[in-house]
Amino acid sequence: MAANRKLLILPGDGIGAEVMRQVMRIIEWLDTRRGVGFDIEEALVGGAAYDAVGTPLPEKTLEAALASDAVLFGAVGGPKWDGLEFSLRPERALLALRKELELYANLRPTVVYEALADASTLKREVVEGLDMMIVRELTGGIYFGEPRGIETLPDGQRRGVNTEVYTTSEIHRVARVAFELARKRRGLVHSVEKANVLESSELWREEVQALRDAEYSDVELRHMYADNAAMQLVREPKQFDVIVAGNLFGDILSDCAGMLTGSLGMLPSASLGKAGSDGLCRGLYEPVHGSAPDIAGKDSANPLAAVLSLSMLLRYSFGMADEAALIERAVENVLNGGLRTSDIMQPGKARVSTSVMGDALMRQLDKVAA
Ligand code: NAD
Repeated sequence: MAANRKLLILPGDGIGAEVMRQVMRIIEWLDTRRGVGFDIEEALVGGAAYDAVGTPLPEKTLEAALASDAVLFGAVGGPKWDGLEFSLRPERALLALRKELELYANLRPTVVYEALADASTLKREVVEGLDMMIVRELTGGIYFGEPRGIETLPDGQRRGVNTEVYTTSEIHRVARVAFELARKRRGLVHSVEKANVLESSELWREEVQALRDAEYSDVELRHMYADNAAMQLVREPKQFDVIVAGNLFGDILSDCAGMLTGSLGMLPSASLGKAGSDGLCRGLYEPVHGSAPDIAGKDSANPLAAVLSLSMLLRYSFGMADEAALIERAVENVLNGGLRTSDIMQPGKARVSTSVMGDALMRQLDKVAA
C-alpha cells in the first residue's frame, strides 16, 4: 500500500534545503533497508521558486501538492526577497498551500528529550519527560473573520476591526482531531478559550463538550481559560496531554509550549486536512523554524526538527507508526550519544555539523532497525 503513497518534497530556501537533504537520506534508507518506497516528486517553493519562475508558489508546485498524499516542507524566506511586494514574498507560498490543501488542524508536539532537559529555560524537574501536543485550529477564527479592516472615522480617529468567529462544524472537526489523538495517548484533552468574556468561546466550549459527550466519552475533557493555560504551561506543563484551541490562542500557546524544549531546531509540526476513507489525513509537514539566513550555507543547522516532521508524516498521513517510531528512537539515541548541533550545544558535548548529525542518524537507524 505504502508503495503508492505520493510524497511531495519542497526544500525551499536557506537551511530549508540543507535540513531536507538529511531527510532525503532517511527516505532513501526507508526504501533500501525497509522496502518502503514512495512516489516522490520535488518542486520549487518560496524564494527559490520566485528566482526561477517569478512566483513563490508556481502552478506546477500547487498541482503537485494537490495530487500528493503528503507534503514535506523545508522553510522559505530570506533578506534577498524582503523587498518584494507582499503577494510575491516567499512566505505567501506557505499560507496559500495551507489554504488550497484545506489544512485546518495544526499539530505541534512538545517533547523534552531526556538528554536535552537542561536546554530548557525552565528547571529540569518541570520539563523532564514532557510529552504534549497542541492542536491549533488553522483556517478560521479572528485571522480570517469578517468584517475586518482599518477605517477612518468622521472625527479623524482611525478604527481597526477583526472578527473572532467559529461555526459548529469548524469547532467539531478540529476537536475531533484532538480527541482522536488523545485516544492514542493519555486520554486527556484540555480545550482552551475565553468563555468568560467571548461569545465565540462560549460556543466553542459548548460544542467541544457536546462532541465529547456524543462520541468520545472515553476521553477526559477539561476546559481552561487561555490566560490560565499560558500560566499553567510554564508552571506545570506535564499536566497536559492534548490541548485544543482556536487559531489565535493556539498560535500563542504553541510558541510558548515550543520553547519549553529549549530549541527551535528540535520542533516539528503537521498541518492536517480531512481524513480519507482509510482514516489517514492529507497533510503538510514542516519544521517550526524558518530559513535561518544567519546560518544558511554553513552546514550548521539542526536537521532534527525536519527529521521529526518526517516521522509525523509517516505516522499521520502514511499510517506507518513503526517506521515513525524507528526514526524517533534514532533521534533519541543520537542525542544520548552526546552529539549536538550549535543550537543545542551543551558543555562537555560534541559540536557537529548538519551533515555529521545526518551521518550519526543513519548509523543509529541501522542499529535500531537491526
Ligand atoms: P528562523 O526560525 O529562521 O531563525 C531564528 C533563529 O533560530 C536564528 O538565529 C536561526 O539561526 C535559529 N535557527 C532556526 N532554525 C534552526 C535550526 N534548525 N538549527 C539551528 N538554528 C536554527 O526565524 P527568523 O530569523 O525570524 O526568520 C528567517 C526567515 O525565515 C524570514 O524570511 C522568515 O520570514 C522566514 N520564516 C519562514 C518560516 C517557514 O518557512 N515556515 C517560518 C518562520 C520564519
